[in-house]
Amino acid sequence: MEFIDSHCHLAMDSFNDDRNEVIERFFEEGGISLLSVSTNIDEFYLNKELCEKYSGIYTSLGWHPHDAKIFGKNEEDFLKNVAEKRLITAIGEIGLDFYYDNSPREEQIRAFEIQLKIAKKFNLPVIIHTRDADKETASILKKHKGIKGVIHCFTSGEDFFNTAVQLDFYISFSGIITFPKAEELRQLVKKTPIDRVFFETDSPYLSPVPYRGKRNEPLRVKYTIEKAAEIKGMNVENLSNIANQNFFNLFGKNSF
Ligand SMILES: [Zn+2]
Repeated sequence: MEFIDSHCHLAMDSFNDDRNEVIERFFEEGGISLLSVSTNIDEFYLNKELCEKYSGIYTSLGWHPHDAKIFGKNEEDFLKNVAEKRLITAIGEIGLDFYYDNSPREEQIRAFEIQLKIAKKFNLPVIIHTRDADKETASILKKHKGIKGVIHCFTSGEDFFNTAVQLDFYISFSGIITFPKAEELRQLVKKTPIDRVFFETDSPYLSPVPYRGKRNEPLRVKYTIEKAAEIKGMNVENLSNIANQNFFNLFGKNSF
């Protein structure tokens, strides 16, 4: 089976000891592409090296809502520059997180909207993070129409799900769909049109069953795809191939 991890964080410290082994394992076992998200300038440079070293690796850059308070002019200019030079495939993850509130809400909204405008200007897709802010995220996305993207690690409710599908966004499911308590989310997996579905690990976080609690890695996206295939009553390879096609439809075929 050929599969893609559409969202992981390989530049994080938890991969410092075995980053190359993790990547090589992924490609040896059937992985064909992965997107390693950069949440700051240092991570961008590390991911850029990975993109140069391995074909099939993509990177994005965006200031997470947690870091909205440090998203200033310097960061904005850097993002515009790499967007213009096409050194990134997408802008993200960006959005709102009213669960942790690590940055003041008005700062989160400010950083989110500036980055959406950059995405629009340079015609790049966006990777959206939203937690406990469905209404606000939906209204901002509606305001900035004409931007393509994916809702990463989807855990929202049905209202936001419907809005995202209406706005032609892709819906990305993580290992959370394998967790025993995630019955409501599994109902939304069932409802997701197959031409909208994405899969991700969000490594090093959110390891699926049977690895729950351990450091996650891109290879384990397989367990999430298997679970989704079971929920949707589909052949797993078939579903994975469709998700791969969705990934290329949004991000393009050439990673770097
Ligand atoms: Zn992430």
